[in-house]
Amino acid sequence: MKTEVDVFECQECVLTFAIEKTDGLLNIVCPVCQSAEMLEDKGPATMIGGDSDA
Ligand SMILES: [Zn+2]
Repeated sequence: MKTEVDVFECQECVLTFAIEKTDGLLNIVCPVCQSAEMLEDKGPATMIGGDSDA
């Protein structure tokens, strides 16, 4: 099972996190400092979950 995500890095906290893609991207904020201004978009990524059937 694969999940499309967008990866962001907060320049303030030096925190990298991924947000699952949705049809309409919400206002993305850092989960730590709640800032949107310090976020750097690192681009899309694919997370592969553990699927025993695969
Ligand atoms: Zn932050």
